[in-house]
Amino acid sequence: MHDPDTIVAISTAPGRGGIGIVRLSGPRAVEIASPLLRLRHPLAPGQARFGSLLDSETDAVLDEIVATYFAAPHSYTSEDVVEVAAHGSPVLLEYIVRQCCLRGARLAEPGEFTERAFLAGRIDLTQAEAVADLIASSTLEQARLAARQLSGSLAHLIAPIKQGLVALIATLEAGIDFAEDDIDVLPAAQIVAQIAAIQEPLVALERTFGYGRVVRDGFRLAIVGRPNAGKSSLFNRLVQRDRAIVTASPGTTRDLVTERIAMDGIPVDLIDTAGLRDRDSIDEAEQIGIAKSHQAMADADVVLLVLDAPSLAAADALPPEDQAILDRHAESTAILLLALNKIDLLPNQSQLVPKWFNLQLVLTSALTGAGIAELRATIVAAVAGPDAAPREAGMLTNLRQHQAVSASLLSLESAQAAVAASIPHEMLLLDLYATLRALDSLTGATTTDDLLRLIFSTFCIGK
Ligand code: GDP
Repeated sequence: MHDPDTIVAISTAPGRGGIGIVRLSGPRAVEIASPLLRLRHPLAPGQARFGSLLDSETDAVLDEIVATYFAAPHSYTSEDVVEVAAHGSPVLLEYIVRQCCLRGARLAEPGEFTERAFLAGRIDLTQAEAVADLIASSTLEQARLAARQLSGSLAHLIAPIKQGLVALIATLEAGIDFAEDDIDVLPAAQIVAQIAAIQEPLVALERTFGYGRVVRDGFRLAIVGRPNAGKSSLFNRLVQRDRAIVTASPGTTRDLVTERIAMDGIPVDLIDTAGLRDRDSIDEAEQIGIAKSHQAMADADVVLLVLDAPSLAAADALPPEDQAILDRHAESTAILLLALNKIDLLPNQSQLVPKWFNLQLVLTSALTGAGIAELRATIVAAVAGPDAAPREAGMLTNLRQHQAVSASLLSLESAQAAVAASIPHEMLLLDLYATLRALDSLTGATTTDDLLRLIFSTFCIGK
């Protein structure tokens, strides 16, 4: 195999900064970087060296730098890496990159440093994805989730599951290939039990996707309801500052107001809508507002319908505008939550919810703040699923990972069916291999060698 290219790129964010870093990775990293620099002491693995960056035309000092050398395989990419930290001027940093290229380095492709770490086997695919997620995170909870994944939480969770699967495959393979050697084929009940033991943690893992996905991607919450129900006030309570303008006259919130907030570390685009009400009694501007509200409802992951407690308590049916929202919602995939607002106006709790009303409500007062914490918790639980509590163990955070786990579960199910139908083990094995392939695609691993090693070590076949 020929040596890989030595690649170079500016690793800090574009623009000016106190410090900017150029990263070089590959077998020639030290050889390429050294002539550009004048260092007090030569580069040494794991050590930072203070020195100067030289102007190649005049040999004069262009900047003071710190160069750090990470010797293979103890580096980000597992190759030799040199990082030059200069002052964060784009001109200087580009100069360093250009000089490296003149001396034989190549500009790195996007993600190529992390790709090399993956190809060298230092990190798996889920960890590579976590690097991108960590960099992109906009809340601390997102960063925590990515950091857990970067530390290999998902890989650690998958490893024992895969081991169990490989052991089962090995046993069945041995039963088929070496039947004449008197190796007992497993009884069906035991195969079923082993498949169940593999399945259980995968099912639990699949369920983490709800939470993992919303933490990573966030969700859109539309607040809808009749004018004056208290939508803007609730919006403000959730935003915790006065972003939407609260007024006492109906129908003034004509434009959609959107605010990005973090609820339990989950990014939420909060959309306050114009009052949704009867079309003929309103002017044109308000009609536009209503059309926007319908659009907001259509785009939302969660629709929060705000009901007015005093009028609901006095009514014998849901007002038609609110009923229309329920009907409209029935055609969408969004989650619907209901808040009964202004409960402070009805201090007698038994008056609050009339008997005919049979939907689940969160009781709130945007005025006093009562029920707001519960409303937040209800919203988070609704989007994140029943396993909303953040877990230390691995979590699925993107569609690719979810599809891999779902595919592994599908194959396991058909393996189960195969056992139940006493189908020959050759066929059962096809399903188990499909499960293994799906799990391998999750982490980007290949198993053939591990598997062979296990088969031969378990059964002392080389007699
Ligand atoms: P929107 O039209 O649905 O956005 O309603 P607003 O948030 O603008 O509120 C309409 C009026 O109801 C304002 O005067 C608010 O101060 C008042 N309001 C909102 N929420 C509450 C509440 O929980 N209790 C009481 N007593 N008044 C509220």
